[in-house]
Amino acid sequence: MELIFLGTSGFGITASRNLPSILIDKCILVDCGEGCLKSLYKYNIEVSALKAIFISHFHPDHILGLITVISKIGIYSKDLINEYPPIYVPKGMKIQLEHIIDATFSNFLNRRFELRIIELELNPETNLKITINNKIYNINWVKTLHSPICYAYKFNDEVIISGDTAPFLSFNEFIKNIPILIHEATFFDYEAELAHKLNHSTPSDVAKIAKNSGIKQVYLYHVPDIDKNEEEKFISKTKTIFPNLLVAHDGDRIIFPPNVVDQ
Ligand SMILES: [Zn+2]
Ligand SMILES: [Zn+2]
Repeated sequence: MELIFLGTSGFGITASRNLPSILIDKCILVDCGEGCLKSLYKYNIEVSALKAIFISHFHPDHILGLITVISKIGIYSKDLINEYPPIYVPKGMKIQLEHIIDATFSNFLNRRFELRIIELELNPETNLKITINNKIYNINWVKTLHSPICYAYKFNDEVIISGDTAPFLSFNEFIKNIPILIHEATFFDYEAELAHKLNHSTPSDVAKIAKNSGIKQVYLYHVPDIDKNEEEKFISKTKTIFPNLLVAHDGDRIIFPPNVVDQ
């Protein structure tokens, strides 16, 4: 499996980071923050290669890039409706997304009727199996501790992408023995109280989750506006808890196995 971080910021676009968006095997998009389309161009990914889009939740930092990505796909697939990738969203989010698409597209193309927006049920037994480019993807999800409703997604028992969340107990079972965890860390450790109040996590929260879980490598995304010099300080307290933890950057590519980052 190959992952490319298209956006890793949790605090608005910065000089070096777009808003959350992660690409799996160059065909599955998880979240579509502002700047996603530009990242796709930057890393030489055609929008026509996107075959499925998963949205964690309905906060603007995770969805505002959808409008430009959908618009661009629309240019390619004007007469070929089936070429729109299905957009998978948490329960209750379909109508909200339709409102945004209606409001932004209605003046020139009513695209939402051609789009497939699919709500994923909350039932923890539910999963999804899709085939893309001859590869089968088994996808599971779990509701995180965030507001509004947010899902963490698990792909083929290989990688988990947390979406936004504060630490919560049942996540431990969901992540057990999965090689790669990509987890939000929106605040510094010294801001833990604020982080939890706002349903977010800190680096040490994530390290504690990963400890004894069987996870091999953690990548933090949805991070504050930190440059490379500040990263060490950001994750300094995690070293003694779970050493295999890195801060992801826009453009980082992970191919596993083996677990390597190509920057
Ligand atoms: Zn959020
Ligand atoms: Zn967010």
